[in-house]
Amino acid sequence: MPASSDSPPEALARTFRPSAFIRGSVALHAVAAGALILRPQLWPWALAAVVADHLTLTAAGLWPRATLLGPNLTRLPQRAAARGEIAVTIDDGPDPEVTPAVLALLDQHAVRASFFCVGERIARHPQLAREILARGHSLENHSQRHLNRFSLLGPRALRAEIAGAQESIAFATGAAPRFFRAPAGLRNPFLEPELARAGLKLVSWTRRGFDTVSTDPDRVLARLTRGLAPGDILLLHDGHAARTAGRGPVILTVLPVLLAAVRGAGLKPVTLPAACL
Ligand SMILES: [Zn+2]
Repeated sequence: MPASSDSPPEALARTFRPSAFIRGSVALHAVAAGALILRPQLWPWALAAVVADHLTLTAAGLWPRATLLGPNLTRLPQRAAARGEIAVTIDDGPDPEVTPAVLALLDQHAVRASFFCVGERIARHPQLAREILARGHSLENHSQRHLNRFSLLGPRALRAEIAGAQESIAFATGAAPRFFRAPAGLRNPFLEPELARAGLKLVSWTRRGFDTVSTDPDRVLARLTRGLAPGDILLLHDGHAARTAGRGPVILTVLPVLLAAVRGAGLKPVTLPAACL
C-alpha cells in the first residue's frame, strides 16, 4: 500500500550511506590536499589523481546501471526472482493517447506494471494518474520535468525535481511513490543523498528496448527478451514513444507479444512495491 500523502516526509527518509567509491573519492581528495601541503612539488600527481577521480565519477553517472554512486536496483531482489517475478516498467507518461491503450493491454493480459511518471505530465492528466493506480499498477517518481540536463543539476535543483514530482503525484492521487528513476538513467553524486532524504530508492533496469528512438517493434522486442529471466526489470515507454512504420506508438505493438513471451517463460509480472517491499 502506498503511504498516504499526509505522512511527514521525514518519517520516510532513510540514512544516506555513501558508497565505498564515494568514500574513496573523498579520501583521495583529502590525500591530494595533504600531499600539496607537505610536498608541493607533487602537484602534477595530485592533480592527475583528482582529475581521474572526477572522470570516473562522471562516467559512473552516465552509466545508468552502475552502482558506484550508490544503491541502484538493476534487478528485482533475489526473493522476488525465486518467486519467478519480473517487473514491467513504463516511463515518461502519462500520455493521453498512449497510456489508456497501454492500460487496456495490461488489463487484457491481467498484468500489473510500474509507471515512472513525469510530475508535470501528472499535473496535466491527473485522471490518468488515478486510473493507473485504480487498475492496480504502481505509480513512481520520474522527476518533475524530465530535464535533459538532469545529471548536471546541483543538490537544490535535484531536490526540487524529486520533491516536485512527489507533490504532483500526491496532489493528483494521494499516493507517495517509494521508487525513483532518473531521466534517461543519467545521474551525478548529488542524487543519492537527495533520494535518501526523500525516502526513495533508485531503480534502473535489466534491459531496455530503446522504444523512444527505435521504430522497429521486432528489434525493441528482441532487446527486451534476450536472456529473459526471473528478476528482470524491463523498460518501455508510454511517453515519448517512437512510432512504427504504421505510425502507431511502438509500445502498443511490442507489449502484447512481450507479455505473451513472459507468460510463455513461466514468469509473473508484478509491481516494484509488490516485488521489493
Ligand atoms: Zn524517461
